[in-house]
Amino acid sequence: MHFCQNTVNHNIFLENMQNDVLSTILNQHDIQVDGSPEKVSAYFEELVFTKSTMKEYLSKDVYGEVIECIELGKKINRDIAGHVASAMRSWAMSHGAKSYTHWFQPLTGATAEKHDSFFTPKSDGQHIEQFTGDALVQQEPDASSFPNGGIRATFEARGYTAWDPSSPAFILELKAGKVLCIPTIFISYTGEALDYKAPLLKSIHFLEKHALPIARMFDRHANRVQPTLGWEQEYFLVDERMYYARPDLVMAGRTLIGSAPAKGQQLDDHYFGSIPERVYSFMVDLEYQAHRLGIPIQTRHNEVAPGQYEFAPMFESVNVAVDHNQLVIDLMDRVASRHKLKVLTHEKPFAGINGSGKHNNWSLGTDTGKNLLSPGSTPKTNLRFLTFFVNVIKAVHEHADVLRASIASAGNDHRLGANEAPPAIISVFIGSHLTGVLDSILERVEKGKKFDEESNANLKLDIHKMIPYVLLDNTDRNRTSPFAFTGNKFEIRAVGSSTNCASPMIVMNTIVGAQLEAFKKDVNALIADGEKRDGAILRVLSRYIEESKAIRFEGDNYTEEWAKEAAKRKLSNVKDSAHALGLFETDKAIKLFTNSGVFSEVELEARQEINYENYNLKLHIEVNVLADMARTMVVPAAIRYQKKIADTLESLEKNGVKSTSYMRKELALIGEHIECLLELTGQLDEVSAKASSKGHARDEARYIAKNIIPYFEKVRGHCDALEARISDAEWPLPKYRDMLFIR
Ligand code: ADP
Ligand code: MG
Repeated sequence: MHFCQNTVNHNIFLENMQNDVLSTILNQHDIQVDGSPEKVSAYFEELVFTKSTMKEYLSKDVYGEVIECIELGKKINRDIAGHVASAMRSWAMSHGAKSYTHWFQPLTGATAEKHDSFFTPKSDGQHIEQFTGDALVQQEPDASSFPNGGIRATFEARGYTAWDPSSPAFILELKAGKVLCIPTIFISYTGEALDYKAPLLKSIHFLEKHALPIARMFDRHANRVQPTLGWEQEYFLVDERMYYARPDLVMAGRTLIGSAPAKGQQLDDHYFGSIPERVYSFMVDLEYQAHRLGIPIQTRHNEVAPGQYEFAPMFESVNVAVDHNQLVIDLMDRVASRHKLKVLTHEKPFAGINGSGKHNNWSLGTDTGKNLLSPGSTPKTNLRFLTFFVNVIKAVHEHADVLRASIASAGNDHRLGANEAPPAIISVFIGSHLTGVLDSILERVEKGKKFDEESNANLKLDIHKMIPYVLLDNTDRNRTSPFAFTGNKFEIRAVGSSTNCASPMIVMNTIVGAQLEAFKKDVNALIADGEKRDGAILRVLSRYIEESKAIRFEGDNYTEEWAKEAAKRKLSNVKDSAHALGLFETDKAIKLFTNSGVFSEVELEARQEINYENYNLKLHIEVNVLADMARTMVVPAAIRYQKKIADTLESLEKNGVKSTSYMRKELALIGEHIECLLELTGQLDEVSAKASSKGHARDEARYIAKNIIPYFEKVRGHCDALEARISDAEWPLPKYRDMLFIR
């Protein structure tokens, strides 16, 4: 039934848009898919300069040194870098690459590259291909085109990229040729970070510094502790031609007008129960390309909305997982274009339909193969589990505000609190079983009372009984929680689909690092006071459990009661980004980041400016596109329709037809919408013209949130009302039902 409707609409749309949308859509099932008949292990990582590839291309000594540097985070000297560079070049050239690029993640939200050729002309005519250690280690891209929040203006006009050996180099296959990509950080000449990766690496280092001594309390063989990340990327796919027929999708990544299909999300199951052939081809193709790049993704079919899908990989170290997520987003665009599709990574491409998020599953792993958030099978491993588990909860309680700020963006404002994503209130869900465990610890660890050998041993044994070895299946799921423990990791669910995972990861690493630092001090103080170590640990944990009680919530996060209850508990509920970003600017936040060395004050300030500027820029674009579409597409269509009715009325009257009262009403209604739209867009021009005079980017953001954002709903309301009345033939845009049900 829906398909018939679609077909009819497509035909009219086809005529109306004077293009070949329908015929192309119907004739493109023959797009070639690049999937491979081979098993995945045959081509997994074939485009990655892995350790084993490195081993092949380097002498044993050099290889040993490089691995040591990578694994221990030591500095690589120029000599070694030279060997690595030439090994990379030989390997890349054997794959047909002719150039290389430093690949980095500036604060624009996308990735950036600056390509250089291996080819080096020589004056004596003996031209060669080369890649030197210097070129591998450091580059100076034209930094002026990337956001810097004023850092370079005040300090030094240059920025440079520096090799990050902890994330492997890879080959990108672009239409124009193959390129060796070197993951790098991007910093100003004076050393301030201008990207996501530099602070991410610092935060990983900081976390390890404080997590390792704690991990070693329970496992003396552990020499490394690394945070792990498994992300889940949601996205929408739309037909490329429909996309290009929608200025709002092209310019803003989301539809600014458009009325939701009659049944919205509960549309017939068969519509999104099975994946359309064309989408499936895209997925197979993407998965193949991702696997060649060593990204361990597994296709997920559990889309919630029509046209919405998800990819999720196996978890990896946070650093590599962040790179892989950025790479997949990049890859998705390129693979999609081969299938005449467009990927929408915006948090809310369609009003009234589920938005897209990016769950960040976070945990801590040791080089001895232990997941520190996994319940163990002995009293000792369970005490280890409780230690890390309770410290994470305490960290989130202490620093919920910076976590909230790290996921703030113009796009995510549409999701948080919209009854599909968690609210803007950060709380932690741990399930009834673990709630019981924490409660019983609280009950039995008496305040101020030292443990004797016996009570200590008893409690520890008890904990062992209370925490079943396999908790994974025991954790009940609460899909409404922004921060949920899911058996052996915490899942951060409030992250927006277009956010660079590094942003919340930097915060997680830093707050947990700072918390573990405090924990060690607290435990040591009790030990100095004569307490046995395990008793001291339990006593400190019980204090933390008590102190962080307010952050734990097991109920439905979508309800109004929770918002009230949260307010009573003094939990923050900052709903829009223009204000949530401010949570990075508090004294507490500044102290956290500067003490940990993750950000300097200058960096924080610069980043804030960039965040606000990004927000402002996005909203200005949206406002302009919205006003433009209303004036140049919607109003003219409405006027044409209005004229048709008027002409018809005139001729009816001439012919003596009397019963035209409803047509007159319709004519008046269309006229009203047109008037309102013209009035509102005029006001919008005036209000937004004043925005840029607000001085600091923060003030401008707050002005926009208060004065401009309310117009989106108003303008849209009239546009959507008109869309619902004007005939398909007259409507100048692809409608939701066209875009959401690609075949
Ligand atoms: P959901 O139910 O939310 O779809 P799943 O439990 O299927 O989630 O997803 C598991 C996700 O958690 C995967 O992306 C996986 O990579 C990740 N994950 C599993 N173990 C860890 C870990 N130790 N650290 C980080 N992420 C993990
Ligand atoms: Mg999930």
